[in-house]
Amino acid sequence: MPHARPPDSPLAARFLASPNRGERRGHGRPNCLILHYTGMPTGEAALDRLLDPASEVSAHYFIWEDGAIDQLVAESDRAWHAGKGSWKGESDLNSASIGVEIVNPGHDGGLPPFQDRQIAATIALARDICARWAIAPERVLAHSDIAPARKRDPGDAFPWETLWRGGVGSWSERAPLSGGPMFSHEEEGPPVRALQALLALYGYGVEITGVYDRQTRQVVAAFQRHFRTEKVDGEADASTVARLKALIDGLGPK
Ligand SMILES: [Zn+2]
Repeated sequence: MPHARPPDSPLAARFLASPNRGERRGHGRPNCLILHYTGMPTGEAALDRLLDPASEVSAHYFIWEDGAIDQLVAESDRAWHAGKGSWKGESDLNSASIGVEIVNPGHDGGLPPFQDRQIAATIALARDICARWAIAPERVLAHSDIAPARKRDPGDAFPWETLWRGGVGSWSERAPLSGGPMFSHEEEGPPVRALQALLALYGYGVEITGVYDRQTRQVVAAFQRHFRTEKVDGEADASTVARLKALIDGLGPK
């Protein structure tokens, strides 16, 4: 597919223009980076889909297992990767973000590990994008962070701690797994409300109901999938809450 345009990032080898794009609405510039897995059996199949006008999905970048990077949508344009979601009150995440698809078959493919070269490429690309657009570490997000009820990618096998050690994203020091769930299902009260308020303060789109309901469990699972991958069960326990508080403390005054 010949294309005159060079990639925005020097790390991308090719620019393969996806037709699935538009103009950013209400945002002059992206303020977050959203990471995905492709969730398909092969990278070739995933790339075909992102270039197919009938699919109406795309991403700015595509990272192969061997670490090769292709660009599909110009960073100045709005790619169609996030769908319905919420972060820090923003709902048009496609207009506010840059999206990166990382080749991995995901949950349906048994959550195989990501390749080291692929993660190294992800770190290099994320550092480049975040530096050029001044994207804060806490705004490097999983698709599951912005759409906990619908999405699980880039998944429980994604090495967020490795990214953080490479200078990408946020992390909290490990709080040991101990104790059981703090709340039973449908439990109601101020402590549940306080947990929901902390999750919302960090950025999650959780409704403050005061009930440990389904949407709260989904958001807790999304948080664990990113920050406490040893156990992703949607149950708030001491180590989950400790990490959430540590991350909020790390945000500092705004
Ligand atoms: Zn996704």
